[in-house]
Order: sequence, then structure tokens, then C-alpha cells
Amino acid sequence: MVLQQLQGGSASREAASAAFELMRAMYPICRSITGDGVRRTLDLLGERIPLERTEVPSGTAVYDWEVPREWNIRDAYIADESGRRIVDFREHNLHVVSYSAPVDRSMTLDELQPHLHSLPEHPDWIPYRTSYYADDWGFCLAHRVREALAPGSYRVVVDSQLAPGHLSYAESIVDGATQDEAIVYTHTCHPSLANDNLSGIAVAAALADALRRDRPRLTWRFVFGPGTIGSLTWLHRNEARLSRLRAGLVIGLLGDRGSLSYKRSRRGDTVTDRAAAQVLQSAGTPGVLTDFEPYGYDERQFCSPGFDLPVGRMTRSANSHYPEYHSSADDLSLVAEEALAESIRALARTISIVDANRRVLNLEPRGEPRLGKRGLYGSVGGLAPGEFQHALLWVLNLADGSRDLLAISERSGLSFETIDRAASALEDARLLRVLDETAPHTSTR
Ligand code: ZN
Repeated sequence: MVLQQLQGGSASREAASAAFELMRAMYPICRSITGDGVRRTLDLLGERIPLERTEVPSGTAVYDWEVPREWNIRDAYIADESGRRIVDFREHNLHVVSYSAPVDRSMTLDELQPHLHSLPEHPDWIPYRTSYYADDWGFCLAHRVREALAPGSYRVVVDSQLAPGHLSYAESIVDGATQDEAIVYTHTCHPSLANDNLSGIAVAAALADALRRDRPRLTWRFVFGPGTIGSLTWLHRNEARLSRLRAGLVIGLLGDRGSLSYKRSRRGDTVTDRAAAQVLQSAGTPGVLTDFEPYGYDERQFCSPGFDLPVGRMTRSANSHYPEYHSSADDLSLVAEEALAESIRALARTISIVDANRRVLNLEPRGEPRLGKRGLYGSVGGLAPGEFQHALLWVLNLADGSRDLLAISERSGLSFETIDRAASALEDARLLRVLDETAPHTSTR
């Protein structure tokens, strides 16, 4: 299945079904920003797509940050005086604050309370909390359970390890015909939460799997790494290639029933922004476009002023815009396969447009060239003859070297795909030349 097919109904539903199965397999694993849970997740991912894995040692300086100690956990619980486990990590990994330091002691309820987190407004849900950079520990529990805790003595155990180790991330790289590159980044650091972040991992895998059966122009890197420290680490290790980065997407939260949402890059008018606008303003996959703000996911790092990369973000309900966000209610039942399929269609089309976009120059600009003698009249590839003729005339007229195909599509009101076909036909007839094609791909690794 190639990327073009993923834009269709049945292929996208088939891919969504496979993505959901991958999410189901990954859901029970306790992930964090480092540790064996991330490695097990990458193992499962590696069964679907080729992966190049990177392990970066704890303590490595990354701009104003450093790679933290590696966190692994075997068990954790709060037990009452009879030894009964009231809060049990083995029942749900959200019960432990991620990166909790080890502890084994008895304490009163009053001493325990400051270490407990619950959601009074959703008393049956377990919240998701982290403590990456504070040497602390804590438990998350349903507010109903917390309310029922009787005064007394409690045994508190977190059997975890915080020790020098590594930060793990992986890339699935699809080589392109040119030296230009694009990136798709999705975070891998959440434990048993489905929409955030397993949907992003599974959709990225579906896209990478389709694209590697294609022959893209750009080299596409699908990067699977932890939030914030992962994208910072990737940027730090890849500074030399950033000048070749033509486009990029941070993706995640792609399976809920909210509408598709694209957040523009800091620059706001990059090829990624214009491609996403074309996709979300069409009837097939309608969605919402929002301007950049320095809050959100890893686009914050890619769009920090020292990089200012052409990277936007595609989600459905972003951040905390759905009540189940960062709680145990963000489970597999929150994810709709039809929503996953629509996300796959929208992203497949966005990536296709980004990849095919190019700046072109009319080689016969004085007067209209005669199309008939070059066999360019009549219908082409299922397009109505009139529409294709229109597209040829628009491309010839606007291909003055200052515009790319997206700009010609925007100005003419014709779809990018129609303009792309017309441009390809004109290139074949030697009436058009691609301007910004960089040198053929040699090795970019
Ligand atoms: Zn999150």
C-alpha cells in the first residue's frame, strides 16, 4: 500500500484497523521518557517498520537540558494495615507518578496525602502525573478510593530504579530522490494512555510503512522519541541536517472523535502550513487551522527561535481539549477507528503534497505554447478535459519561477493534485522545468 492509496476510504480503514491493533499491543506497557518500557514499545514498532535506534547516555548535555537518569519500575503499591493493596501499580501503571524515586516505608494518612493525586471532578478516573526533574514520588488514584481511605498506618512501596542509563529514540527513514528532507515527530513517553500518545505512534507507523513503498522526492524521517527532551536531543544530534529540512509535522492525539486540527509553524507560511491548509479546507477531511503559540507538544522545540523550522502540528483534540486527557479515561475505548482512518487520510495527503510541491519555470513564456501538437489536449487520467486544460494554462501562466505548485493551486482554485498532474505533463513535454530540485540523493545519513 503506497501513500496515494492511503488517501482512499477502504485503504485508510484497513490501515486504521492495523494501527488500532498496534495500539492495543502497546497499551499495557509502562512507558516514560526513558527506560525499558520505551524499548519494548520500539521493539513492537520495529516489527512493523524498519527502525534505526539511538541510545543517548544519561548526563549528555542538550542545550539548556541534560538527558536524565533512566527510570525503570518493577512494582509499587499502597497497602493498609492488613496488607491489602489499596493502590496497585500492577492494576494500572498510571497509579504511580512517572519517575517516582524508590520508597519503602510506613506512614500515616496525613503524611501520605501530599503524595496523592486524584480528580474530584471525575472521581472514577486515575490522573496521569509526572515528576521527571524533581526527586519525588507519588501515587495517582480514583478520587472515590482516596475519599474512602481511613485514618491509620499505610505501607508505601515504590520499587523503582533511577540510575545512569540511556534515553531511547528511533527513526524510520525513507530515502528520497533529492537531498532535501522532512520530519514527522511523535512522542513515545506516555504509559497506558491511548489517544495521547499511542494514536500518534500507530498513525506514524502506518504512514512510514506506506511511504517506504513509494519513491518520495524528500527523505522522510519518522522520529519516535520522548516529549521535549527527545525532540531536543534529536535536534542536538542533527543540527548539520537542519538546513536541508523543507517541512515537518509533529503528530499525536489522532484517534478521538474531535475534528482534525492543524497548528501552524512559527513562520506560519511554510510549505507544511500551506499543504495542511489545502487538506483541511477541502471537503474530504475538514478541520480547524490555528496559529502558532509557544505552548503544546514538540513543535515548541522545532519552532524555538534558534531553529524556527517549517514544522507544524496535526492532531484532533489538542492538549487538554478533551475531558479524558491525561487520565485513565484516555483508554482504547476513547479511540474511534473511523477517526484514526480520517487522520491517516489527511496526513497521507499532506505528506504527498509536501513531497510533490516544487517551483517550476515556463520554458516557452512568450505567448501560449501550442499544446495540441504536443498531445496535451483531451482528457488525462480521469480529469475532466476542461479542468485539465485550465490547469495547464494556469501552470504555464504562473510558472514564472517565483511560485511553487501550491501557490499555483491556491491562485487558481484548482486542487494541488490537478495542478501537479498538469505540471508533470508539461515537464514531460519540455515546456516546464523544475527549479529547486537539489542534487540527487547520495548519502544523507
Ligand atoms: Zn500528553
